[in-house]
Amino acid sequence: MAGKKIHLHTIGCQMNQSDSERLAGFLSVRGGQIVSRASEARYIIVNTCGVRQSAEDRAFGLAHQWRDSRPGIKIILTGCLAGRIDLRGKIAATFDFSFKIGDMEKLASFLGFKNIRFPRIKNTNVDYLRINPCYHDQVRAFVPIGNGCNNFCSYCVVPYARGQENWRPADEIITEARTLISHGCREITLIAQNVNSYKSFLKTKKGREPVDFSRLLRRLDSLPGNFWIRFATSHPKDLDAKLIETMADCEKVCEHLHLPAQAGDDEILRRMNRAYTIEHYKNLISRWRAAFRHSRLKKDWPTAVTTDLIVGFPSEKRQQFTNTLKLVRAVKFDQVYSARYSPRPGTAASVWPDNVPMAEKKRREKILEAEVKKIALAINQAYVGKVLPVLVVGQNRHQEYYGLTRTNKKIILLESRCPPRSGEFYDARIVAAREFSLAGKIKKPASN
Ligand code: SF4
Repeated sequence: MAGKKIHLHTIGCQMNQSDSERLAGFLSVRGGQIVSRASEARYIIVNTCGVRQSAEDRAFGLAHQWRDSRPGIKIILTGCLAGRIDLRGKIAATFDFSFKIGDMEKLASFLGFKNIRFPRIKNTNVDYLRINPCYHDQVRAFVPIGNGCNNFCSYCVVPYARGQENWRPADEIITEARTLISHGCREITLIAQNVNSYKSFLKTKKGREPVDFSRLLRRLDSLPGNFWIRFATSHPKDLDAKLIETMADCEKVCEHLHLPAQAGDDEILRRMNRAYTIEHYKNLISRWRAAFRHSRLKKDWPTAVTTDLIVGFPSEKRQQFTNTLKLVRAVKFDQVYSARYSPRPGTAASVWPDNVPMAEKKRREKILEAEVKKIALAINQAYVGKVLPVLVVGQNRHQEYYGLTRTNKKIILLESRCPPRSGEFYDARIVAAREFSLAGKIKKPASN
């Protein structure tokens, strides 16, 4: 008999995508049938994001749209909005049921799934990560290593929505990675809100040994197989010399660092509660780049640094925004993910006047994006002529194959006698560069 048809709609970050994969795994083994189209489903679960107002509005907007077009369906909410006390009334009026992502047992009861075969989830913040997921992509998989955040950046809702940091045991992460690799996975991305503060234990013959993020990376790097390791996201205060050395040493760990700076002005950083100065941030990037230049293995390999920046934080003056531009020019980021500040209820910054007008936020964002494009193009032009390993990911809507470099740059693969195979590594010569992508020609299957 066909199971209950359930559609999962995910909004937001990689962590939410990964959570939806665990949720799909949880529901599938209990008889739920996950369907890709909302129009086929009797139940729609929206896995929401609360980081920006626009994402929050989208979740409620979609629920109303589905309700109007499909009377009789049940609409369920989870994710970052599920624990928001200030939204309790609005959630109850819009959704049939809501649950925190770790409370999947409550969802099971709501759906009438009786036959519970899992050991019950005890620590709802982290135990659900143990559930066997239905991976969206087996070639490039997310492996969550923890959940929650202790940092309480003044603008951020995550510590309230997801709670304090909780980490998965290292053995569990290594087992999941090993299984993925044995099934042909080529790229493992370790994810958590702040991966580099990871602390857990590893069972050894001598007992339980402490493991930090560097040690976890080294253990994963030592697994046999042809695969790459990435991670996201990191906090500058937890990027230490040991982790820098590990990245420069470990062959499978990619030469890409995503290190959110959030602002380029010390006073703004202090008010954001980011716990570092711009000098410290720039120093970290210099040390990270130097470690690769001095690495025996990777000294000639390209590296990439990307970041997140917020424009229009409360009381951000023009000069302070100019300092952000100065940081971008000084570091020369490969890519910047910019966001216009929007106050999040319950956060420290939400009580400060949101006093940079929207038009000015948009203006600053435009200036920032133009600066980033100029820098990114110059960086990418230096790739032309190089031969680099590329992981082929798929075909775009123009039927062109594309892939990723180790530095996480998208590369369009131009005419090739034999079409490349998705999920395989090739060596490609870079023949052209744009701001945020490269074009290349395949030479041969990669040697790594
Ligand atoms: S480090 Fe700051 S911005 Fe990142 S999740 Fe934690 S509180 Fe939010």
